[in-house]
Amino acid sequence: MNRSLSGRYIGRFAPSPTGPLHAGSLLAALASWLDARAHGGRWLVRIEDLDAPRCITGMDAEILRQLAACGLHSDAPPLYQSSRDRAYAEALAQLDTAGWVYPCGCTRKDVDDALAAAGATHERHRERVYPGTCRPERGGLAGKPARSIRMRTACDGQPVVIAWHDRRLGAMTQDVAREVGDFVLRRADGLWAYQLAVVVDDGWQGITHVVRGEDLADNTPRQILLQRALGLPTPAYLHTPLVLGPDGEKLSKQNGATPLDVRDPLAALRTAGMALRIATAGRTVGEWLAGAVAVWRDQWVA
Ligand code: GLU
Repeated sequence: MNRSLSGRYIGRFAPSPTGPLHAGSLLAALASWLDARAHGGRWLVRIEDLDAPRCITGMDAEILRQLAACGLHSDAPPLYQSSRDRAYAEALAQLDTAGWVYPCGCTRKDVDDALAAAGATHERHRERVYPGTCRPERGGLAGKPARSIRMRTACDGQPVVIAWHDRRLGAMTQDVAREVGDFVLRRADGLWAYQLAVVVDDGWQGITHVVRGEDLADNTPRQILLQRALGLPTPAYLHTPLVLGPDGEKLSKQNGATPLDVRDPLAALRTAGMALRIATAGRTVGEWLAGAVAVWRDQWVA
């Protein structure tokens, strides 16, 4: 049974400690917190610190400090993905036993060459759709050393099409094989890929509702595919509008997002609230949040 139907709500905010919160990430944090509170549920913070080379020492504490200044406190001590190695290895072993994964020996250049040879021009988000070169039925590694581990996006030769519902975006569908291709679960540098870690942890933490930025919506079909392959329930999804930078792209460190100034948390919350169409009175953080929960409940909770 989908746990969201059982009346128990567990939501989460899952920042990567690669930089401080900015206006865009506060919006995702606030939306997930409001949804949890509007449902009378729990809200957990998960520190997604798997990509060690990109993580900045002490940034986890800084993010938690920024959240706390805005009145957003995790209902349990934060879970650190860097402590979850064994869980990811077990999930990978389970997928392997069920025949969902295979080792891949391709470099980026190998993938480019294979795509060029096939006359394929389908680039997506400037990324390559993996052409399946190392699938066992196509000869496997063929003598190359294994680099990464990939998840199949076709089952018994049939492409997996994932149809799903987003609470804000409505009916969504993706032919994962055609639009993404077999995707990496363990990277060539030995690190666990975001897709695997997020699914294993959402499952282990009993997350019933995922509320996050719309830029991540495109990952959802891959995550649903993994949930199904691992026998995990699929949470309800709501992808929020993004805060855009001056170049019209998602606000990020790259296009000039400044760290959230939490000396005036009320101003930061009001700005995030505007993007969520929440205007509410409140002279303190606590008052503002209480008003925002009521507005959110009317907007998003039946
Ligand atoms: N760690 C991801 C990020 O900071 C978010 C993951 C998620 O919410 O699923 O973009």
